Amino acid sequence: MDEYSLNRELLDGVDKVLFSSQQIQTRVEELGSRISRDYVGKKPLLVGVLRGVVFFMVDLMRTIDIPLEVDFMSISSYSPESRNLGLVRVVKDLELSITGRHVLFVEDIIDTGMTLNHLLRTLKARQPASLEVCVLFDKGKNRQIEVPIKYKGFDIPDAFVVGYGLDYREGYRNLPFVATLNPQSIRSE
Ligand code: 5GP
Repeated sequence: MDEYSLNRELLDGVDKVLFSSQQIQTRVEELGSRISRDYVGKKPLLVGVLRGVVFFMVDLMRTIDIPLEVDFMSISSYSPESRNLGLVRVVKDLELSITGRHVLFVEDIIDTGMTLNHLLRTLKARQPASLEVCVLFDKGKNRQIEVPIKYKGFDIPDAFVVGYGLDYREGYRNLPFVATLNPQSIRSE
């Protein structure tokens, strides 16, 4: 998709493009090659949280050239306060068992790290053979808890971003690039 010929309505409220679709694809391919090498003979199980990770998961899977499996879970926050603590409710659990499997947790973006920390603890309790993290965007600056990231796409400034699966109130997910929103459009919604 050419970013300059996108529907104007879709671009409404978009401020600055931080990562073009081409930049993202190139980096995803690099991650996929590393993962393919590291997991030879291990048939990794890629696990993601719906729905933001869908673009990244699908593109990443296409660049991995060894056998793998994939599964998704879905979470929701009890309240804004509990969300800040990373306490989330699993709304849809994984369908596959991860016990004894080499699990690669694939995440679109990590900010404070609280959500990921909570989810990793939940998954570890199921005794996978190994559990690693692959994240596309890392905000770093706001990290409140150390989480081990084995594969990282990009460091990203501390700004709210949308596109490539990431939403603002469910919108903008289908932008092919990742961009900031202008502050007025965030406030006026
Ligand atoms: P954390 O617990 O690391 O603070 O939060 C991670 C989750 O917050 C991500 O999985 C994502 O759902 C959401 N999130 C954090 N930063 C952004 C952002 O800039 N844009 C969007 N769309 N979601 C974000």
